[in-house]
Amino acid sequence: AWLSVAGPREVVLAAPRSFCAGVERAIEIVEYALEQRAGPVHVRKQIVHNTHVVADLEARGAVFVDELDEVPDGATVVFSAHGVSPAVHAEAERRGLEVIDATCPLVTKVHAEARRFAARGDTVVLIGHAGHEEVEGTLGEAPDRTVLVETPADVEGLRVGDPERVSYLTQTTLAVDETAEVVDALRARFPAVRGPASDDICYATTNRQDALKAIAEEADLVLVVGSANSSNSVRLAELARRSGAPGHLVDDVGGIRPEWLAGARRIGLTAGASAPPHLVGAVVAALSGLGPVTVTEHETARETIRFTLPPAVRPSS
Ligand code: SF4
Repeated sequence: AWLSVAGPREVVLAAPRSFCAGVERAIEIVEYALEQRAGPVHVRKQIVHNTHVVADLEARGAVFVDELDEVPDGATVVFSAHGVSPAVHAEAERRGLEVIDATCPLVTKVHAEARRFAARGDTVVLIGHAGHEEVEGTLGEAPDRTVLVETPADVEGLRVGDPERVSYLTQTTLAVDETAEVVDALRARFPAVRGPASDDICYATTNRQDALKAIAEEADLVLVVGSANSSNSVRLAELARRSGAPGHLVDDVGGIRPEWLAGARRIGLTAGASAPPHLVGAVVAALSGLGPVTVTEHETARETIRFTLPPAVRPSS
């Protein structure tokens, strides 16, 4: 099947793509913890939503668990980049666990907003995807005052205590365009609605969507490297399809199907914020194995942001 899809072809890399500052920090935290702690290092949930990252850290000794009851009393546990609800923090404290918190600072910011909005008596409308770990954590800040919506239709069905006292927050990894539609629906129903000072959709999500938009329309095919449970990666594949190109999310080069490549002379390539850069390199290498490939990069923004490590793992200089 692969012979019929021989090149030549062009690969256009979206930039920025792949790891964001929050993911790099979360992975470094686990790496440092493994180096610095004598006992086992547990990680609650996937540290970031990527099968390769998790398998790699597991191979180096990290013990991934779903809930704290799988962690022995007094042991070390890392909280994932997506954040946890206050109830999880409280449980860890009660159990005498050593917590190393790898929550992305941009998620922590949303938690702080949730507390502030709830404290002023507002109904907090959280725009996000039900069941996503980040959403569960944020909902936990003010569970009695927060309601979750995903679509403009959900806004229609909302019931709030006082329409004059409504504010909204968003998950950090949503589609920028679709979120704007939900916010518009909220404004239409609750003209007094208040939001965060700037969007909660993080810089990395926004930049990766902008970068992909710039190349997707010209592409015969868009490949997004990322895992199926990675919200920002799934949004990239959807965005490609909205731009008119067939868009496919693949965990790695092994997920690419030969029939996608037939007739695809120009391939747009990107990766979600949790997908390691070497996986993108492997896709380019595999395509090069099928015939001549010209690789170009289209950069729409340059990212320089870095987050400091928490004191619990910060190496002494
Ligand atoms: Fe933080 Fe955004 Fe990366 Fe999530 S995608 S870890 S919010 S920088």
